[in-house]
Amino acid sequence: MTETVLRADAMLTPEGPIADAELAFASEADGGRITYAGPARAGGRVDHELPGHVLMPGLVNGHTHSAMTLLRGASDDDGFMPWLAAVQGLEQHLTAEDVAVGLQLAMVEMIETGTTAFADMYHWDAQLIELVRSAGMRAMVALASFAPDSVGFPGVSPWNGAEVTDRTEELAERYAGDPRIRVAYGPHAPYTCPPEFLRGIAERARANGIPIHTHVSESAAEVAQIRERYGATPADHLDALGLFEADVLAAHCVHLTEGEIALFARTGTAVSHNPVSNLKLGNGIAPLPDWQAAGLRVSLGTDSVASNNTLDLFEEIKTGAILHRGARQDAAIVRAADVLDIATRRGAEAIGFPDAGALEVGRLADVIALDVTGSSAAGFDATTLVSHLGFAATGADVRHVFVGGRHLYADGEHLTLDAGEIRTRAAAATSRLREAAGG
Ligand SMILES: [Zn+2]
Repeated sequence: MTETVLRADAMLTPEGPIADAELAFASEADGGRITYAGPARAGGRVDHELPGHVLMPGLVNGHTHSAMTLLRGASDDDGFMPWLAAVQGLEQHLTAEDVAVGLQLAMVEMIETGTTAFADMYHWDAQLIELVRSAGMRAMVALASFAPDSVGFPGVSPWNGAEVTDRTEELAERYAGDPRIRVAYGPHAPYTCPPEFLRGIAERARANGIPIHTHVSESAAEVAQIRERYGATPADHLDALGLFEADVLAAHCVHLTEGEIALFARTGTAVSHNPVSNLKLGNGIAPLPDWQAAGLRVSLGTDSVASNNTLDLFEEIKTGAILHRGARQDAAIVRAADVLDIATRRGAEAIGFPDAGALEVGRLADVIALDVTGSSAAGFDATTLVSHLGFAATGADVRHVFVGGRHLYADGEHLTLDAGEIRTRAAAATSRLREAAGG
């Protein structure tokens, strides 16, 4: 078995920080799992001596729309519904090539800021999934759909919602057993999808075990709309359609009632907390402390860069830790360690990669190394690791990324993606989109 051995000043493990740490893992061909995680052992071969670095599990983005990197900055200051209209206006001009380069740009940004796995909802096909596999990331990809007869991305694919549902099942079968890829249904939201369409997907998902990734209770306007149309809150409406008998990842959940939180706890529904997107779009503050108390499965997400505007999860970690303290006037209500756990181990579990997300023997070797020689880390030692990662570190500190034992990013250089070429192509695509949409 070929092994890679890393040594660093400190390492974050499920038992807490370790000083002078060593991590060993099998190569991708040999399964890419961790074989040792602990204090540096005397002697032995070391492949990467990383003085001035710390190791932690790769970050997990629990909700995004990768290809929307091309729409960064669209309607930044206009509020949720006008923003949605502006974004959907630009999306009418997207081509298949745009979606591919948008996804690649997102993977460049995710890798260089320490994300190793992500849950996505957008247009997906086998070609795009192959781009994820060649970049070396893990992804749960949900094929976005709106209604049986509506075509979501007319310039990209002729598929309507009914065809998207069939394609989802074909792709799920094709990638079954692939350790890097999970395929999910992606009915967009209760306010954009008709009830019968949602009921049909729920029935199929219960029968075939394919997960569902959707948006729930993102804005107060959505809650009002669903109440008016169906006389129920969004999650209760979806529950009546049988959705939560399937394996569901529900993004946002800003306006959940106590009863809806209890429903999610009872049904094992996973939620994705997207604090920056919810703040930027003026949608509110999701009740993370209440989810924690109820024992919900939770991930942390950026949402798309059109509502964020970065994919740097360290920003989300810090926001996720401090936001609820301010809102509840209680500095003890969410700890940095809790949010780091949600951004790694619990996030990986929530999006269906339960073997990733922690640096311990037997887990998949999804690991990142951060530089701790900069000004914001002066005085760093292992006892301050959680504090540093929770409140001071940024994605720009990430120097190495490994996923399943494969080296994707080495001392600030991409090994699987041509970042310069991708940025150039993506910039050209963005200019063309803006022009097509009328400047
Ligand atoms: Zn979203």
